Amino acid sequence: MANVKVLNLNDYDYEEMYNGTLIRIPARGHITMEYFEANQFLGKMNPLALDKEGRIDNRSYKMLKIDQSDLKDALDELNAPKTDEKDTVYVCHSCGKDFRTKKGLLTHIKRYHQSEMADKDARDELLDDEEI
Ligand SMILES: [Zn+2]
Repeated sequence: MANVKVLNLNDYDYEEMYNGTLIRIPARGHITMEYFEANQFLGKMNPLALDKEGRIDNRSYKMLKIDQSDLKDALDELNAPKTDEKDTVYVCHSCGKDFRTKKGLLTHIKRYHQSEMADKDARDELLDDEEI
């Protein structure tokens, strides 16, 4: 998961209830958020509050910004090609040898471990299978 710093550029602490959680970012400080959450949080507009003289209360400005270097890292991470899942391997539980195919494993079991098979039905099935 890509995390980014969300900076508060205002001279006042910023507080907002967001998805049931009070998010508080100190003045000129920052918090760390997951990239997509940060994006949604920053995109949510709130009405500006007015003071008693009818002027915009600076405290209500949502002067937040995602740290640009974190943003770049997050996007790089999200856009990076996924590393290939390790190919599925079938592991022999008796000796630990692994096989690329299920058939390879079964052939191995039939050849080396059939006497160890506890499940008689499975063993008979394996022995009856002409393919293996
Ligand atoms: Zn084995």
